[in-house]
Amino acid sequence: MSSLFADASQRLQQALKYTTLSEDAIESLKYAKSSLSVSIPVRMDDGSLKVFQGYRVRYDDSRGAGKGGVRYHPNVTLDEVQSLAFWMTFKCAALNLPFGGAKGGIAVNPKALSRLELERLSRGYIDAIADFIGPDVDILAPDVYTNAMVMGWMMDQYSIIRRQNTLGVVTGKPIAMGGSLGRDAATATGALFVIKTMLPKFEMKPQETTVAVQGFGNAGATIAELLYRAGYKVVAVSDSKGAIYSKSGLDIPSIRQHKNSTREIQAVYCEGSVCNIADHDRLSNEELLELEVDILLPAALENQITEVNANNIKAKLIFELANGPITSSADAILEKKGIYVFPDILVNAGGVTVSYFEWVQNRNGLYWTLDEVNQTLQRKMLEETERIWSIAQELSTSVRTAAYVHAMQRLGEAIDAKGTRNYYTSH
Ligand code: NAD
Repeated sequence: MSSLFADASQRLQQALKYTTLSEDAIESLKYAKSSLSVSIPVRMDDGSLKVFQGYRVRYDDSRGAGKGGVRYHPNVTLDEVQSLAFWMTFKCAALNLPFGGAKGGIAVNPKALSRLELERLSRGYIDAIADFIGPDVDILAPDVYTNAMVMGWMMDQYSIIRRQNTLGVVTGKPIAMGGSLGRDAATATGALFVIKTMLPKFEMKPQETTVAVQGFGNAGATIAELLYRAGYKVVAVSDSKGAIYSKSGLDIPSIRQHKNSTREIQAVYCEGSVCNIADHDRLSNEELLELEVDILLPAALENQITEVNANNIKAKLIFELANGPITSSADAILEKKGIYVFPDILVNAGGVTVSYFEWVQNRNGLYWTLDEVNQTLQRKMLEETERIWSIAQELSTSVRTAAYVHAMQRLGEAIDAKGTRNYYTSH
């Protein structure tokens, strides 16, 4: 299917069979509330002017302000940003966070920019979308190839425009600028809680569980290390340049250290690749996905498991750390093969959950310890994982459909509670 959003919407259609949402709620959830496309002029270091295309989509805000990350990637399109905003909407509802869903992005290869060019681009993006965002309107966060430093620039630029410190407009900020302890590892920490909750249900034990992780960035490298430290055997990891494999398990902390120490910094990005590490078998990303492992963790980009390769997947359980790594047609094939898929809107929700904690801390001016953050995160992830798992059992559906049913119930209540105040009526 050519449109990512059309494919994402399939999940809504499937879940609708199991819900009793009002016609109003169903109709409302089919469309993005608003989409903004902007051109961002940036003065490059050589004096030339370059214009970049940026987007911000607010999918739904019936449960609260829009919430979602900003992606920097050459392939960013409005279709992709809209899909990511759609997933954020259901993710925030599944975790019962008081937010709607939103997302942003810029079509750019950030590795080709100098640090100053990257800062000018990030500040320019905020100049372009400032009227569209705010701590009670739409709140930004990191995503692929954006990080705490970029979030700091964005919050600062918004504060300059508003002439007041406005910490709550962006989460995932540096700690020194109002960031929360634990936010950097939150996506992976949340995923670890989901995995730990589910493992005993499949009578699996960490020490006997093999894992492959696709993507070695914020989400992928952190979950690889957390699982390694918890005793799991992480046999393969990859990044955009390829994968490495060791049957007896990889030493993840030293691979992380290697990747960090070999970084040749252009702007803020690590150019060192996991493939540069000797003494391991090399694989392609496609081969990593098809390994015979107990757990597969896609933690890179969308559309990695499609109808083309779904039949070759041999993992027992898949936990989606990335957003949208499996297409809807691949879902059906995996289900037939008896492979359990734990969906993105649950598995990677730790990131937005701690973003919520950061936003709460910014509003209160009272900051939490790392233990407080992680304990509150654990409680929330366990509660919603158990709830979604029992819905899947009750309805005999996939865990993905159960997660959508769970989220849609909450979204439907909010949409219906607002009634028709915004809509023109015939009388
Ligand atoms: P990141 O920029 O930190 O890392 C991305 C990683 O993916 C890098 O290691 C990169 O080399 C690798 N990669 C890129 N293309 C690849 C390919 N074709 N094959 C294999 N690896 C490839 O990004 P991130 O923040 O870790 O985000 C990864 C995924 O997790 C995205 O889908 C993102 O939306 C999702 N996610 C991130 C967060 C967060 O808080 N950062 C929260 C929820 C979901």
